[in-house]
Amino acid sequence: MSQEIAAELRITAEEETPDGRWIYSPSARYDCHRCGVTEGPVFEPRAITAFAEHVRGIHAGRCRPKTS
Ligand SMILES: [Zn+2]
Repeated sequence: MSQEIAAELRITAEEETPDGRWIYSPSARYDCHRCGVTEGPVFEPRAITAFAEHVRGIHAGRCRPKTS
């Protein structure tokens, strides 16, 4: 038996550019492994805060496991 991560909310603040520099580039995305939906990404700090609330509240309420 393996333990699955049901969902993953990833918030990153920096991003590596193709030429190897790191820039400040906040983004958030949410991968739900239960229903298979990816939400986001969103890129503004204020949007990220709202997004985190959204995925914990709204998504959790409408999330239905995939039927395999
Ligand atoms: Zn879900």
